[in-house]
Amino acid sequence: MISPAIIDKIFDIAPIEEVVGEYVTLKRAGANYKGLCPFHDDKSPSMSVSPSKGIFKCFSCQQGGNVFQFIMEHEGLSYPLAIKFLADKYNILIEESQLDVSEMKEDAIAKEGVFACLEFAKNHFYERLNESQDGKVIYKPYLSERGINQQSIDTFYIGLSGTEKTHLLQEGLKNGYTALQLFDAGLVKKINEDQGVLESNLRDTFIERIVFPIYNVSGKVLGFGGRIIKTDTKAPKYLNSPETLVYEKRKELYGLSISKNEIRKADQVFLVEGYMDVVSLNQSGVENVVAASGTAFTEEQARLLKRFTHNITMLFDGDIAGVNASLKHIKTLLEADLNVKVVLFPADEDPDSFIQKRGVSEFRNYVINNSKNFIELITELKLGEQRHDPIKKAETARTIAENIAAIPDPLKRAAFINETSSMLEIPERILVDEVNRFKLDNRKVKDRETRRENAVSNLVPPDIGYATSFNEFDAPPALQTDSTNYQELQLLKTLILHADKEFEEGVSVAHYIFKELHDDEIWPITQEYADMFMDAKNQLEEHKVLNELFFIRNHKSSKLAADVLSTKHQLSKGWEENYEKFIKTDEDNYKQLVVDNLNYIKLKHIDILMLENQEGLKTAETEEDIAIYQNVHANLQEARKKITDQLGTVILK
Ligand SMILES: [Zn+2]
Repeated sequence: MISPAIIDKIFDIAPIEEVVGEYVTLKRAGANYKGLCPFHDDKSPSMSVSPSKGIFKCFSCQQGGNVFQFIMEHEGLSYPLAIKFLADKYNILIEESQLDVSEMKEDAIAKEGVFACLEFAKNHFYERLNESQDGKVIYKPYLSERGINQQSIDTFYIGLSGTEKTHLLQEGLKNGYTALQLFDAGLVKKINEDQGVLESNLRDTFIERIVFPIYNVSGKVLGFGGRIIKTDTKAPKYLNSPETLVYEKRKELYGLSISKNEIRKADQVFLVEGYMDVVSLNQSGVENVVAASGTAFTEEQARLLKRFTHNITMLFDGDIAGVNASLKHIKTLLEADLNVKVVLFPADEDPDSFIQKRGVSEFRNYVINNSKNFIELITELKLGEQRHDPIKKAETARTIAENIAAIPDPLKRAAFINETSSMLEIPERILVDEVNRFKLDNRKVKDRETRRENAVSNLVPPDIGYATSFNEFDAPPALQTDSTNYQELQLLKTLILHADKEFEEGVSVAHYIFKELHDDEIWPITQEYADMFMDAKNQLEEHKVLNELFFIRNHKSSKLAADVLSTKHQLSKGWEENYEKFIKTDEDNYKQLVVDNLNYIKLKHIDILMLENQEGLKTAETEEDIAIYQNVHANLQEARKKITDQLGTVILK
């Protein structure tokens, strides 16, 4: 087990806004930060991050918790591995022995093995490029000829794969990785597909290639892209790692982990086609650049970029393939509500060759002078000089309308329709009809499921959490809620909010609650929250501080704590005014809240006992037994009445 001291240390040196900020651009909003939630298709910033409390919370999809929850969700890691992930990042040493494999789920172990293999391969390839004979004599001179200097090799950790067919396989096995792990990492592949993952049936995926590690947004290696430099071979020029447990091509962008801060700063990103373009531009000082590895630009990639900027400028070769690729990407980007510009380079140039030949200032000038929005681009490509050809004009208008229909923002749609109308001299209302027709088509095509999802997320009012809960105490749904554990949840929320406040002189709220539960032998009523209550109780019994920080940092309760503690920040203006009185009342009346909550839980407990007693009565055989059951029933009823009197409300059973 990883020691609590290490976990606390990570909490202390890994501020939540910094950890989350690695993945999403956060903007200050009062004492907190806001950003686009990475866990759902967020249209406007729904995620709030509270530096003072150390929590994040999405008010749309309800994801929330502390830094570890964020890493677990985002990196798909188990709790111990999320701890290790942040420990590594902040240079805190965790002894291997503390990482108990038995605590991890099977897929987490497999993933960890894959990540370890990839990291090993990255270092191995890098060393080979820099230290081996062929690296020094052939490959580094080649890179340098292509204009790639040592600094770029170091920044991108460019490497060289082995020349023999099982070079990495042998090295990997020698270093303690299994054949299966290397296979799962996509570093080796089967010679004969029908046979198993056996050493004799495996060979390296990358042979005699310059390899570019592909990182996820936080800088973990997911796979490699390999480029061959030999010309006397049938092997493809470029080769990518296959999809694996950790590598899904449609979700990643090459260079993002290195460029994200520059993208944020510039509030703009250049999207290019290849690794070499990214490396070359970066080296020349144009650092806000990424490449989509893969042919199509996906919705996921658009969403990923959107977390850092809304302004995308695509840089493409001016050849036919480049033009077609740019057209294909545009719709996806527009759909994601991104502002898209396209720059086409002269036919025989790509961004890499252009910047190398002409330098960075000419590059920047070219980009500025040749940036086109999609309307200009499509018009130029489809219509060209034939501005008066009615057929061509109609085709052009149709293609533009199809792209406009993809834009979610109605104001932007209107502006683009207006621009198209004056550019092509076609009446606006005709364009509007055309756009609407495409929108209708899109809607038909769109998966029914996603539509339902969207509808739900739009209709459901935000969970206003505790404020509502308190409100409900005036007319409590009490025992008729759909959640049978409602009472425990309310008590737990009260505990999180007020644990260390004074209940009576010298007695904290937490002490009072646990004493009451103990005295009435109510423990634990429900499995669902028993662990959280138990951890809190232990904390108290060990004479340690029990406050909201404890619940935030405790793995089991952090999500609920984030939920309860971020309620206040989420209220929109109107709600804030309406609910302010409740929030205030909540703060002032916490003692009453504690008493009420305990009463509700006691009531539930009594009801359970009454039910059990009635069951007993049914099977009672002797007069004496019956009398006992009846007596118990009367006592319970009396206890029940006392509590309902105290609550001052009639509670129907
Ligand atoms: Zn969300």
